[in-house]
Amino acid sequence: MAARAPRRVFVGSLPCAKGPVPVKLTVEDWNFLEYPRISLVERPAFLPALMPHVDVLGHLCYFAPGAVTLDRYDPATAVAQCLDQATVMLDRIVANPEYRIDDIQSEFPAHWEYGQLSLPWTVFLGDIQPQATTAKYFIMRKGERKHALVSCDPDEAHRLARSLGAAVTASRYRCWLFQTAVPPRVPAQMPRTVKELFVWVRSWDCTLYAGIQKALGEKDYLQQTYAAFAVKTPVGWIGFGFDLDQIRRLGYANSPKRYRNYLHNAGGVQHLFRMALREAGSRFVHSRNLSYQDLYNKRVTVVGCGAIGSFVAAALVRLGGGTGKLGRLKLIDPDDLGPENLGRHVLGYPALMQTKAGALRDELLRQFPHSAIEAHACSVFDHAQLFAAELIVDATGEESVSEYLNGLRLQRGTLTPLLHVWIRGNGEFVQALWADAEGGACYRCLLVPDASYHRKERFPLLKTDPLQRTDGCRAYTPYAVSAPMQAAALAADMVCGWLQGDPSPRFRTRSQENADVYRVKNQNLTRMDGCPACARP
Ligand SMILES: [Zn+2]
Repeated sequence: MAARAPRRVFVGSLPCAKGPVPVKLTVEDWNFLEYPRISLVERPAFLPALMPHVDVLGHLCYFAPGAVTLDRYDPATAVAQCLDQATVMLDRIVANPEYRIDDIQSEFPAHWEYGQLSLPWTVFLGDIQPQATTAKYFIMRKGERKHALVSCDPDEAHRLARSLGAAVTASRYRCWLFQTAVPPRVPAQMPRTVKELFVWVRSWDCTLYAGIQKALGEKDYLQQTYAAFAVKTPVGWIGFGFDLDQIRRLGYANSPKRYRNYLHNAGGVQHLFRMALREAGSRFVHSRNLSYQDLYNKRVTVVGCGAIGSFVAAALVRLGGGTGKLGRLKLIDPDDLGPENLGRHVLGYPALMQTKAGALRDELLRQFPHSAIEAHACSVFDHAQLFAAELIVDATGEESVSEYLNGLRLQRGTLTPLLHVWIRGNGEFVQALWADAEGGACYRCLLVPDASYHRKERFPLLKTDPLQRTDGCRAYTPYAVSAPMQAAALAADMVCGWLQGDPSPRFRTRSQENADVYRVKNQNLTRMDGCPACARP
């Protein structure tokens, strides 16, 4: 690639409707992986003090990152596009106050943090119980780095710290918690003092204002040198705090209402810190990317922790498996992880010669410390509580075990759905069947009962026999790591369908693009006549 031009700075004005707006245009990246920077050189009087898409340094955010691909082969047009977009955006801010307010409101926490003398220290928020009124501050230290965590649960703090490889200490500080269903009111300027905070909160939500005043009328907060508050709003959490006057706080230790009075008067000039709160609890982490409920409070069992099961478990834990008071992710597999497994398993060398179930549990817990994960290094045949779950995933990929589980499900008449997922051939395709008490096909319904054939397939797929290998006295089917990843993705998609109310189509097939196989329709299967497993006598 030819060397690109160096950084260039241009100064000029944007031709906005109300008048010219002086800006500086900086192009550092002529590949346009980053948009050219446009910053305000001065702020004409017709621009409001608090603007959406303008940060504290006056940089304009005129395109959302990744929203537009600028043409690296036509830089003049690319730069003109940016200037046009910035002009349109500023005109819209000036012309339409509703647009400005809606845009600031929807990203209020981001605006909240900026425009302070010093950048705020990030404070992580754990899983905050809805009814909690205060939470504790914990400090997690790793080397030079220090993170604050606000959590209701010391156990959560310890689990998170262990995941981070950090040391954790509980501080004496508490943070007062509130919630409101009213989106934050957009002020002309963000509050900088305690008095400005009071005025703003009162104009936003009277109940919230009353709650904060009540807390300031009780003596607990006067035991701290700093008062901290976090408010859950419909657009996210916002936090703030202020230092307390050391002499007065001790003097008024038993008459907190006098301290509150002081805050409404001379003490109101106290500088307000607007905190940068980042949700880090499991409720946020697992639901952020979904438009439906995650696996919170569900008991899910994965049978088989080999190639398929390890990727299935890794997907399920990301979908919230094992979170919530009732949630459990149970992993069942009797085998140890050998060198022959490593090439297509989610675990690597650190897990060698450990039980697959135990090592997988340890790794998933290290990654997702909120989850409750159990390992059972035993055969599924010995597991008494198998159906005490909301979902069972059969990821063994072994027909005999799948048939056994299918038989057991039918015999017990359980309502717990059983999701079978497997790989066929040398990874040419992956298949899954969702079987439950709704009356569709069972696992054995995939074979046609025919006395003249041994295990005649209902849906033939492979045109040629798969390649088999043996190492020692064990036969195995070679396939690449992509196959169990595909199988896990298929299973995860069906679990997501179930979470949205319907796992259909309940029988799904995905094939590799260049595989020479027969096609099978994705469908809800009916039972097979004469199926020895599910046919009623
Ligand atoms: Zn059947």
